[in-house]
Amino acid sequence: MDDLRPFHERKSLAEMTAAEWESLCDGCGKCCVVSLIDEDDPEERVARTCIGCRLLDLQTVRCTDYANRHRRVPDCVKLTPQNVAGLHWMPSTCAYRLIAEGRRLPRWHPLVTGDPDSTAKAGMGVHGTLVAEADVDEADYGDYVVEE
Ligand code: SF4
Ligand code: SF4
Repeated sequence: MDDLRPFHERKSLAEMTAAEWESLCDGCGKCCVVSLIDEDDPEERVARTCIGCRLLDLQTVRCTDYANRHRRVPDCVKLTPQNVAGLHWMPSTCAYRLIAEGRRLPRWHPLVTGDPDSTAKAGMGVHGTLVAEADVDEADYGDYVVEE
């Protein structure tokens, strides 16, 4: 019998098509902010700031040059089915993490609601909460930490 469950419930990350993979992003924008790594910490914990990446549209929290993001921002990490599980700085709500951990997407995820804006409506994104990287002196980054 055909498995009628949505792709994100029946496929692993490695089995997804490129379009399915892209649609899995909930658009929260949490991975597109400046993060600080404590290099003295043996667990290398990461502190997330409210400073948006210089390519991020701070209102839509979408990348403004997605196709060229890795060339223009060398720190921008390319997610793959192989590296997701090891990226501990990714937010716990990240859909890629959830699927990699064998969990289901939350009720507010656009693939569940059918509404592309449901992440923002549920208050699960960083929409309207960020300051621009260009407006913050690097020496002051520590003052902008919002989550550790
Ligand atoms: S944290 Fe995950 S779900 Fe959110 S924008 Fe980044 S890749 Fe997409
Ligand atoms: S380059 Fe684009 S995708 Fe990468 S962190 Fe910046 S805004 Fe996000």
